[in-house]
Amino acid sequence: MRVDFNVPLEHGEIEDDARMRAALPTIELLRERGAVGVLCSHLGRPQGPDPGLSLAPVARRLGELLGSEVPLAPGVVGDEVSERVKKVEAGQLILLENTRFEAGETENDPKLGAALAALGDLYVNDAFAAAHRAHASTEGVAHHLHGYAGLLLEREVRELTAVRDAPEPPLVVLLGGAKVTDKIGAIDRFLDTADRLLVGGAMCFAFFSHQGIATGDSLVEEEGVELAGRVLERERGSSCGLELPVDLMLGRAFSADTERRELDGVEVPDGWMGLDIGPRTAAAYADAIAGAGTVFWNGPMGAFELEPFAAGTRAVAEAVATARGRTVVGGGDSVAALSRFGLANEVDWLSTGGGASLELMEGRKLPGVECLLEASEVPA
Ligand code: ADP
Ligand code: MG
Repeated sequence: MRVDFNVPLEHGEIEDDARMRAALPTIELLRERGAVGVLCSHLGRPQGPDPGLSLAPVARRLGELLGSEVPLAPGVVGDEVSERVKKVEAGQLILLENTRFEAGETENDPKLGAALAALGDLYVNDAFAAAHRAHASTEGVAHHLHGYAGLLLEREVRELTAVRDAPEPPLVVLLGGAKVTDKIGAIDRFLDTADRLLVGGAMCFAFFSHQGIATGDSLVEEEGVELAGRVLERERGSSCGLELPVDLMLGRAFSADTERRELDGVEVPDGWMGLDIGPRTAAAYADAIAGAGTVFWNGPMGAFELEPFAAGTRAVAEAVATARGRTVVGGGDSVAALSRFGLANEVDWLSTGGGASLELMEGRKLPGVECLLEASEVPA
């Protein structure tokens, strides 16, 4: 079973185990059914074996969450690993080492896919957050075994597809974060399907820059400026209204103790950078969210990690939390923001996938989903 245990680590300690907890229902189901559960995941981006990115702390935490110890295999594949897997009893689990310790993982080497498949009889993919990658453990392995969707992956696909294809109108999409290029595919799609597209975060400066508005020292993504121009052009012919901030919170530098000032308007003077949306923008966006039938949110409205610049993100997070419509949030930092404000339980669906949720929204096929059986193909 492929899970996404790519958790944030700080000095070898797990900072947030939400992704692990999200996979527990499928893991518990395998145990109840008496399966030998061979779990695997990547962690970080090692270029080969790297003790600092061992899944040892993850195995320990999983044992705590399940109330019974989970052994860690001495590698990803190989004779020693196979021997160790053979000793696992029905209803018990074993965790393989970080799949990216094998170079074949990201290259989707057929040999690694086959070696992983040789460890089991069935393949279950519950790693939605990695499903946009065609790697050996997310796609290649399913060339050799029947592949099934885990409960988390299935729910993710259902929730996100519903927003994409059959949203209760009006659909209000809130996009923020650092870069236009990360989100251009989703923006393009939403110009066709959303009623209102609200833009915040550093992303708005690519739009302002295209419009010839001064951006001061704000983070402007050069590649994004031309894309922003194309988006504005497409928006004119669409029924979707794209909205940009009308005021900003400025700082001298990306730091919590920098000098700060509110700007009623968006012409950023030299020596200042826009680090959050202002209160008028936050109120307008909150209003749009309150009136939505469906809300999709990806990307914070500002540098919310810095408390003095968190107000805009907090205001929209509160609006999303109290919205009457269906609310779906994706993206690592947007989810982190909701958790930080204690609002993570107040939305209808918190996606575990950042890139994967955006690619699904764009209408792209996810290799880690496409490789699984359709319900109609499941053998009796
Ligand atoms: P998500 O993970 O939710 O998809 P992104 O990774 O795209 O979001 O963007 C999050 C990052 O964008 C955060 O680290 C945040 O500090 C940064 N950011 C947002 N607004 C600004 C801004 N105005 N200036 C600089 N950085 C910003
Ligand atoms: Mg992010």
